[in-house]
This record gives sequence, structure tokens and C-alpha cells, in this order.
Amino acid sequence: MNPARGALVAGNWKMHGSLLGNEQLVAGLGMQSGGSAEVAVCVPSVYLQQVAGLLNASGIFLGAQNVSEQEPGAFTGEVSVAMLKELGCQYVIVGHSERRALFGETSQQIAWKLKACLMGGLKPILCVGETLAEREAGTTEAVIAGQLDAALAAVSAEQFARAVVAYEPVWAIGTGKTATPQQAQDVHAFIRARLAKGMDERAAGVKILYGGSVKAGNAAALFACPDIDGGLVGGASLQAQEFLAICQAAK
Ligand code: PEP
Repeated sequence: MNPARGALVAGNWKMHGSLLGNEQLVAGLGMQSGGSAEVAVCVPSVYLQQVAGLLNASGIFLGAQNVSEQEPGAFTGEVSVAMLKELGCQYVIVGHSERRALFGETSQQIAWKLKACLMGGLKPILCVGETLAEREAGTTEAVIAGQLDAALAAVSAEQFARAVVAYEPVWAIGTGKTATPQQAQDVHAFIRARLAKGMDERAAGVKILYGGSVKAGNAAALFACPDIDGGLVGGASLQAQEFLAICQAAK
């Protein structure tokens, strides 16, 4: 981590939660203000209003897991940037690998979502990452370059400077397999160099999170890498003590 950039640990609850369970989980997180690491939870959209109220003065930021690239209109089932902002969201995940693989989101559509967020004042957490087959074929950098370049082409350098990138190797998400700190750092350094090419010196200020089976036991070693600025945490964000320990490792 780099103190000038600060850190962010964002929980991704995915399609988990219930009114009662959310209350218990947020109560277990307590107060998280202070220190150089921001903490956020990205919750299912139906629970945003409830969790906004629960987080209240906790110092934890609210995030969503997806957003429409469209302005309000006839888009059944979609949720706009303005709606997320009205409910108190600061962050939204865009381009999670599950959205890419299971819901057919393309890098171009994700770039439009990123743009809609940055135009509307929401901070996007742009996910990029390779599958196991792509890693084994030696195409990790080419895949990530394609994902990043589509996003960079859609917005100005000034706008992208307000985004967060999350490197999430698809083979490490929900599998219990974590990239080694060296594997992650190598890709994070590549991402930062690619950002510098696509924008300018402002690339040095963009937070790049690591995601993929981050746990209390591996967070400190990952966060000690110079280009890893925190984590996007799935499964472990559903357990308050585990998530708190990961947040602590970022502070
Ligand atoms: C994720 O959902 O973004 C993720 C990284 O999940 P997990 O931590 O469970 O691998």
C-alpha cells in the first residue's frame, strides 16, 4: 500500500442477506471511522436503504453491486446512478466477473456504466481479471489491457482519476485459491502502467484493489505490496470478525 493513495476495503455481499441478517452483520462491524483505510459494503440493491440507515454514523461507506448505464427511462428491472446516489451510495461495483460471465456484460457496456457513474458522481470500482484458461495461455496482460482500454477510452483522465480498479483473477474468486502476493503485485504494477499510458501521471493516484479469496490470514501479505491498495472481499465480508480483521490489515 501507499500512504499517499490510502486504502479501501470493500465488501461484496453478492446475493446474500436478509433484513435480520443485515442488522446483525452491520452491528458486528461497529465503527470504522479514522485511520487511512476506507471501508465500504456493497449490498444487494433491495437492501440499500435499510443498510444506509444501519451504517448511519459508522464511518462505513455504502456501495451497490451493479448499475445501469442508462438515464432513467423504460428499462425494466434496472437501477440508475441517480437512484443509487439518492439512497446514499458512494461506490458501485462495475464489471464484476460474475456480471461479465453470467449476464453477458461486455467491456464496452461496462465502460458505459463507468462513464455514467463518473458523470453522475458515484465512484465506480471497475473489476478486471483473467480466467484460469487465459492465465495458462499466457494472455493475462492482454485480457486485462483490453478490459482497461475499453474503460479508459470512454472517459477523460480527470474522470478516471476518481475511479477505483479491482484486480480479480476469476480463478481466485470464491474458490479459496488466492493469487500469491507476487502474482497479484505483478498484475497490479501492469495495471498501473497501463493506466499511465491511457491517462497520465494521475494513474499514480488510482487505488487498485485485489480481490479473490481475501481472508484475515492472507490480507496483510497482499496489502503489503506497493501497488495493492486494499481489497474487494466477497465471502469473508459476510462474517463480521473476518471482515474486520481484513480491514485492520489495511490500516
Ligand atoms: C468477489 O466477489 O469480488 C470476491 C472477490 O469474492 P471472494 O472474496 O469470495 O473470492
